[in-house]
Amino acid sequence: MILFKHSKDLRFRLDKIKQKKLSVGFVPTMGALHPGHISLIKKSKEQADITLCSIYVNPAQFNSPEDFRKYPVNIEADILMLEESGCDILFIPGGEEIYPDENSKKKHFDIGYLETILEGKFRPGHFQGVCMVVEKLLNIIEPTHLFLGQKDYQQSLIIKKLVGMMSKNIKITICPTLREPNGLAMSSRNLRLSNPEKGIAAELHKSLVQMNHKLYAEGIQILKNQATSELERLGFKIDYLEIATISDLEIIEKYKNRQGLIILIAAFLNNVRLIDNLILSA
Ligand code: AMP
Repeated sequence: MILFKHSKDLRFRLDKIKQKKLSVGFVPTMGALHPGHISLIKKSKEQADITLCSIYVNPAQFNSPEDFRKYPVNIEADILMLEESGCDILFIPGGEEIYPDENSKKKHFDIGYLETILEGKFRPGHFQGVCMVVEKLLNIIEPTHLFLGQKDYQQSLIIKKLVGMMSKNIKITICPTLREPNGLAMSSRNLRLSNPEKGIAAELHKSLVQMNHKLYAEGIQILKNQATSELERLGFKIDYLEIATISDLEIIEKYKNRQGLIILIAAFLNNVRLIDNLILSA
C-alpha cells in the first residue's frame, strides 16, 4: 500500500493508473477503522482494479467542536488494517489540502429536501460539510467506483445526488451494515461506549427488528411510540425514529405495503450519538 499526504503526488500516481485504463474504487472514511470499513474495501477490490481509501476527519461536518475533538483517531492501527485488507492506496490529506482558504469552506450545495429531514434536521449544516469534503476528494481522485455504507443511508443518497450534480460518471455501491454479534452496528463512535453501554446500544437494532416484525399488526404511530418509550426506559434520548421510502426518504405515517421502506433511528446513549437503520423485509 502506498500512502499519500499531498494531492499533487497522488494525482501524479493516479494519472499513471488512468493511462493504463485501470478502474479506481474509492472508499472515503474518517478513520478509526473497523471491519465495517474493511467490508467496503473488500467490495472495491472485487469490482475495481485499484482500491483507494481516504482518511480525513472533516471538521466542517461536525456540529460541535467537542464532538470533533472527541472523534477517535487511530492512524497506526488504521494503516495496519488497510495493509492487511489489500488496499492499494491510502490518502491522508492535511486540512490545507481540503480547505486551502476561507472561501473553500463557503460553497453551498443545493441538496434540497434530503437536507431538511432526519440527520439534516437534527444536525444543521452537517450535510453541507459532507458535500464540501466529498466534492474535493472526488475532484482530486476522479474514481470510477465509489463505495458507501448503508449505515449512513441518508448520506449515501446525498452523495449520489452530489455525484449527479457534478456530472461525474461514477458507479456507486451502497454496502450492507456490518454488525457486532449482538446486532450493534459497527461504528467508530462505539469506541466511546463502555462494555455495558455496548450491550444497551444493541437494543437500537433489536427495536428496529421488532418494529419490522410487528408492522403488519400495528399502525406506524403505535409502533413508534412503543419503541420510543422502551428505548427511553433503557436510557436513550431519541432524536428521531421514522419510516421512510428507500428511494427518496419521504417520511410516511401510513403504509400500503412494506416494499421499498426503511426504518431509521438516531439516539444518544449518554453523550454518544448512534444511528442505525433497517430496510423492511416482506
Ligand atoms: P465513516 O468513517 O464513519 O465516515 O464511514 C466511512 C464509510 O464507512 C461510510 O460510507 C460509512 O457508511 C461506512 N460504514 C460505517 N460503518 C459501517 C458499518 N458498520 N458497516 C458498513 N459500512 C460502514
